[in-house]
Amino acid sequence: MSETQNTVDKRIDGKAVAAGLRKEIAEKVKVRRDKGLPAPGLAVVLVGEDPASRVYVGSKVKACEEVGFLSRNYHLSVDTSEAELLSLIDELNADDAIHGILVQLPLPEQIDVQSVIERINPHKDVDGFHPYNLGRLAGKAPTLRPCTPYGCMRLLSAYGIDPMGKKAVVIGASNIVGRPVALELLMARATVTVCHSKTQDLPAELADADIVIAAVGIPKFVKGEWLKPGAVVIDVGINRNEAGKLVGDVDFDAAYDRVSAITPVPGGVGPMTIACLLQNTLEACEAIENA
Ligand code: NAD
Repeated sequence: MSETQNTVDKRIDGKAVAAGLRKEIAEKVKVRRDKGLPAPGLAVVLVGEDPASRVYVGSKVKACEEVGFLSRNYHLSVDTSEAELLSLIDELNADDAIHGILVQLPLPEQIDVQSVIERINPHKDVDGFHPYNLGRLAGKAPTLRPCTPYGCMRLLSAYGIDPMGKKAVVIGASNIVGRPVALELLMARATVTVCHSKTQDLPAELADADIVIAAVGIPKFVKGEWLKPGAVVIDVGINRNEAGKLVGDVDFDAAYDRVSAITPVPGGVGPMTIACLLQNTLEACEAIENA
């Protein structure tokens, strides 16, 4: 390997791309305010005390305030009934100052997640989880797009990586990451394979993958030697290792020598998820105004 290749930084810097997007959004909010238009409003609902959820909600509220959005934070007790949560959603659906509603998942077991997702007005569903928004994405006419998959696609685009004609392998088939990211890649005209816990031979699926999106939730699950040399790797995983340090789903150090580009954890997809939530809230606000 030449000296130049050794010094090339293969990291996809999600922190920097997200900061750029947040800056653009803040400027658009300022233009709106200068014209006398209201700030986009986001309501964030947390039920219970899950420590990771509290951290995520805190980051989302802070990000909202930094770009000049109206931010409303609802923290409900762990024993909140489904009827109480649905009633809050009804109120927020009817509230003209609120353009985006985010209910932080997971929810306590007495609450049916799907009923909650489907109660949110799809035009305020800034998480992009409502069947209307997922259906629009499946039909190649996306409206509000699930934030983490949208963030993955914006990262690829920011680095000039076009999935068209490439072989993409998604590891994980969850409703919030794996499935919608597969739809995004398909819309971008990649040839897409979705792997999950019942996939028979994951290394064989990965052997000729040009783009790998890992969303499994197991620390360092994807081994360097499974990857095709020159592959692009987007690591969605956020896991804590035994030492309490944040690590992704991909063995970063082993993968780094093999790939052409890779997202670090932290500092990859995570900041993009939040920036895309802001982007969705701005888009929801504009769409509601123009309806
Ligand atoms: P999930 O548990 O809902 O889904 C995990 C998926 O991995 C499932 O489809 C499962 O079939 C698959 N899987 C499990 N074992 C496997 C195996 N041995 N081989 C292949 N596939 C296997 O998780 P999720 O909500 O999709 O989240 C995945 C990871 O992404 C987690 O670490 C989560 O914390 C992280 N995450 C990060 C962001 C972000 O903003 N960066 C957002 C959402 C989730």
